[in-house]
Amino acid sequence: MEKIIEIEHLNKSYGDIHAVNDLSFCVKKGEFFSFLGVNGAGKSTTISMICGQLEKDSGKITICGMDCETHIEEISRKIGVVFQNSALDAPLSVKDNLKSRAALYGICGKDFENRLAELAELLDFSNLLSRPFGKLSGGQKRRIDIARALIHNPEILILDEPTTGLDPQTRKNLWDVIGQLRKEKQMTVFLTTHYMEETADADYIVILDSGKIVAEGTPLQLKNTYAGDYITLYGADEKDIAKLGYPYEKIRDAVCISVPDTKAATGLIVTHPELFSDYEIIKGKMDDVFLAVTGKKLGGGGDR
Ligand code: ATP
Repeated sequence: MEKIIEIEHLNKSYGDIHAVNDLSFCVKKGEFFSFLGVNGAGKSTTISMICGQLEKDSGKITICGMDCETHIEEISRKIGVVFQNSALDAPLSVKDNLKSRAALYGICGKDFENRLAELAELLDFSNLLSRPFGKLSGGQKRRIDIARALIHNPEILILDEPTTGLDPQTRKNLWDVIGQLRKEKQMTVFLTTHYMEETADADYIVILDSGKIVAEGTPLQLKNTYAGDYITLYGADEKDIAKLGYPYEKIRDAVCISVPDTKAATGLIVTHPELFSDYEIIKGKMDDVFLAVTGKKLGGGGDR
């Protein structure tokens, strides 16, 4: 698969703080890429440099085969960004906000009206067009932020914690739209989030700590490397479980046994068939991976 974002030995310091420290990774075209790290890990700093809003100290950023240093104008047409804090004008109406954004890309008149209608249908905001942006609810605002990021039909959508503070239903709606964009337009999605369950479907994950990569891989590779498995066993006697020698937790009518990997789970089941007649084996959560790798918990819920 073609590389769409390539970061090589990127560095950025703010005074004594080495926010991005010799960072290298790449994102492939059409990929759902997840960029994780606790507060202050260097995610936003990296995104700002990818978007050309912040000057790097050293290293190289290549987007769609073009060097950020020499082709920032062309690159900005390839990228749409949803920032943590909305970049829209509170007193202006939704339509006027999007109109002025579209004008920056030379999209005016009939072309703008057509694009607006398309986005309003996709993101379901036809009823909000004349409302001042500042008076919308959090979820409504996010939909308009995404429309703003998509107005020029970018190839890459960068989402910097897009669902923070949204209710579960609004989060789900946003993810449905993003899923649709990926499927229909093969859009590359670059996500940072504090909700680990949002990364479960990612094609590739990079975990950052203090400006450096501490782990990377597919969710499966990360779970297999950094998190154990769980066996949920029903109808067994707790004192028999205690003898197995693995940590366990009693949950309602079942016992959840933590094992280092699937091989250990299979070993237990094969050697104790009398105990394991009704059970499930589940891979560890992305939360477990994050905790194992960084020693810290990320906010949000689990993905199990
Ligand atoms: P969050 O999840 O909180 O958004 P992040 O991973 O995006 O965090 P950054 O915002 O990139 O992290 O910050 C990386 C480090 O750089 C932090 O220690 C932060 O305090 C510092 N930093 C970021 N912006 C500036 C700035 N403009 N001036 C000085 N220090 C900064």
